[in-house]
Amino acid sequence: MTRPDRAVGVLLGAAAGDALGVPYEYGSRPLPPVGESPRMLGGGLGGYAPGQWSDDTEMACVITRIAADGADLRDDAVLDRVADGFLGWYADGPADIGNQTRAVLSGGRPGPGSAERLRQRAVAVHARTGRSAGNGSLMRTGPVALAHLGDAPAIAGAARAVSALTHHDRHAGDACVLWCLAIDHTVRTGELDVRVGLEFVGPEWAQLLDDAEQATPGRFASDNGWVVAALQGAWAAVHGARSLEDGLVAAVRGGGDTDTVAAIAGALLGARFGGSAVPVRWRRVLHGWPGLRAPDLTRLAVLTAQHGEPDGEGWPAAPTIPSYAGASSTTVAHPDDPGVLLGAVGALRAGVADAVVSLCRLGAGQAPLDGVRPEDHVEVWLVDRDDANLDLPRVLTDAATAVRDLRAEGRTVLLHCVHAETRTPTVAAAYGAMITGTTRAAALQRVLAVLPSARPRRSIVEGLLAGEAE
Ligand SMILES: [Mg+2]
Repeated sequence: MTRPDRAVGVLLGAAAGDALGVPYEYGSRPLPPVGESPRMLGGGLGGYAPGQWSDDTEMACVITRIAADGADLRDDAVLDRVADGFLGWYADGPADIGNQTRAVLSGGRPGPGSAERLRQRAVAVHARTGRSAGNGSLMRTGPVALAHLGDAPAIAGAARAVSALTHHDRHAGDACVLWCLAIDHTVRTGELDVRVGLEFVGPEWAQLLDDAEQATPGRFASDNGWVVAALQGAWAAVHGARSLEDGLVAAVRGGGDTDTVAAIAGALLGARFGGSAVPVRWRRVLHGWPGLRAPDLTRLAVLTAQHGEPDGEGWPAAPTIPSYAGASSTTVAHPDDPGVLLGAVGALRAGVADAVVSLCRLGAGQAPLDGVRPEDHVEVWLVDRDDANLDLPRVLTDAATAVRDLRAEGRTVLLHCVHAETRTPTVAAAYGAMITGTTRAAALQRVLAVLPSARPRRSIVEGLLAGEAE
């Protein structure tokens, strides 16, 4: 049950690292003093908006949009589609692009055979410059692992093939293979093991990984535009991380090519801690080419990891979810704040509130709700089953914080799940405790007194109470 959350984390974690690192790329802005967190301020080398991701995630989007159809990334025709996608992105005039990637894509021609033509251009760049081991193929490689989960030879083949479209040097291909196999292992098992792919790469990597584990990301800052140092810096950040946020901050604080090292680290951190570990305050602002936001990355990651197949309800591709038909449309005011309405998914209708916090899956056509800004419709990954959430106390607190933030911004908020039985009352209780200073148990009693549908699952209430001390 936690595997889809981990798969989503691969894309969301990378995008979050990218947007978090953008403001500080190559010293564009001084890092905040220790004790103060880096923020998604935008700027950087591409003059990005706050929360906007850069070329790293843009190129990953090209790959995942193709893989989300169930395409095999080793197939020649599919590689042509990826090459065409890269060329289309380049034609759109990206605000920032690596030197090597630009040298290959500028002058490239789309259409049948485009992958082979790009490969030849990458060979020529390598021959001309003597070096083509930039970090530009590693930064976008996460979706390749999702497309072939559980099939190590396929992942190794696809990672090398997609890398070679722009990067001829063997180290670039090796790094993509190693990182994708680590991501695959972590998505499937929850365990970090960066060495699972060593048999597919050159013998020097074992020592390079050992060295990374003895260091902090800053040790590699002086040359982390080079793929080997970028991977080492990312692994140094992931290896020592207690949480996704912790690891991304460490990667950014390492300096140098901050957005790319954090994007690389973020793919593996997300595999470990899940998309649900990317805080709502980040997911609300994340956005970028080609006109996507965090919920779009969620849907693309799920479809990529499922070979393009939606589940029995058509999720996440279908516009609505059939089993939600008939859910109650009534709402009740939160007992501690009448500006927050509590309800079931039937309450999700235009005009109900200025903002929405959804605690269940939604059809692709249900969010953002009509009249609600995309950043004001928050989708929280919270599963109403026992042992199905990677870090339940953290997610409940994060959801309650989202309600509090939206209220502080002057919005009225609809807080809902499918039937307002478990998730709505528990998050409502976390929010009530947060704004009143009473215990979560007492806040839950107040919510239960006004919300007739509430009959919260015991394990979720235990998660609520376990998060009390935070
Ligand atoms: Mg970038």
